Amino acid sequence: MKLELPCSECLYPGGKPNKQKPPMTEGWGLIPNVPLGNDCIYTVEGPCGHTSMVKIHNFKFEMLFESGIRAMHDGYYREAITSFYVALERFYEFSLGVLAMPKLWDEKEEELDEKSLRDFAKGLDILKSSEKRVGAFHGMYYAVNGVFTKAFPESQISVRNKAIHQGEIKTHAETLAFGTGVHDYIKVLLREYKENFPLGIHRMKYVEEGLAWIKLGGQLKGKMNSLPSTLIYTFINSNDGRYFESSETIEHYMQNPTMGRAVRQETI
Ligand SMILES: [Zn+2]
Repeated sequence: MKLELPCSECLYPGGKPNKQKPPMTEGWGLIPNVPLGNDCIYTVEGPCGHTSMVKIHNFKFEMLFESGIRAMHDGYYREAITSFYVALERFYEFSLGVLAMPKLWDEKEEELDEKSLRDFAKGLDILKSSEKRVGAFHGMYYAVNGVFTKAFPESQISVRNKAIHQGEIKTHAETLAFGTGVHDYIKVLLREYKENFPLGIHRMKYVEEGLAWIKLGGQLKGKMNSLPSTLIYTFINSNDGRYFESSETIEHYMQNPTMGRAVRQETI
């Protein structure tokens, strides 16, 4: 999947908004065809000659799900199923962070302590295998809510296993049904978090950025906070309240020409 990202140097020369030109019109200030990266902080080189850094405001699971939609759109059904499923796996990780947030980041503290973040990263490393992650998610959900949430259906897991381990290629309709199943599962929980743990979601973005920043060798405080950030137009978009109201289907969304474009640029 390719992204269109803003060039911070064009939009914010010297850290101040460019008053000469309105941002991101007619392709100006945008860098096309940036490959989807592992983390939410990108170093991009534009046709303008600038090299700049930008943060993506969307969560990793949102970007992976989007990558599944693009793969399906282009007829790569096996790849689409893989992307939808890894989006779900990243969503389990995201859920762990949201549910455990009061432990990771004291509600009264404005800043996250770097050691806690590094310890959390080590914890996620322990949960690298799929079964452990799913188990940790269900256990954590129960610990916080006092009830178990339903599991992602076994029948759907076998669709994923056949696609990955046996190379089975599904039809468009089967891929769409799988993607819709993953999305329905995610949306119910995401809505629940939005209502019950809005601070957890908000802070989880900072955690995701912090983990990416540490990987790049940076200290948590300082430059990371001043990097410009951008929101990409994606099918799952927890930053956009309209997502929770909408009953948009994947099939309808695939006809939308604005898929994957940057919709907002802001400095924090
Ligand atoms: Zn530029």
